[in-house]
Amino acid sequence: MADITYRSKINRIRTFALSLVFIGFIIMYVGLLFRNIEWLMLLLMILGTISIVLSTVVYFWIGMLSTRAVVIVCPTCEKQTKMLGRVDACMHCRQPLTMDKSLEGKEFDEKYNSKKKSR
Ligand SMILES: [Zn+2]
Repeated sequence: MADITYRSKINRIRTFALSLVFIGFIIMYVGLLFRNIEWLMLLLMILGTISIVLSTVVYFWIGMLSTRAVVIVCPTCEKQTKMLGRVDACMHCRQPLTMDKSLEGKEFDEKYNSKKKSR
């Protein structure tokens, strides 16, 4: 359950956008270190700017995705989370979530079964 690779899609894209900003600033900083070599500084400045512009685009994309995401309450931590697609992970506790009943994990299924039986 604490699998690092299994993260919420929105969180993953957000991390990607944030790292793009950092990479952009690092590239620009390196560019300043090479201010004696004009073409290299210029190249690094342009690359840094592209990286930051890209992150803005990615942030915009997250905004677009968020409007399409389904807001649900996580059954594990009972917080509101956004789901993208048929299968996604909770943004808070990384609990795998699914819209498709046939894809639900064993533990999940058992809970549902026992609820049905008690009725
Ligand atoms: Zn959760």
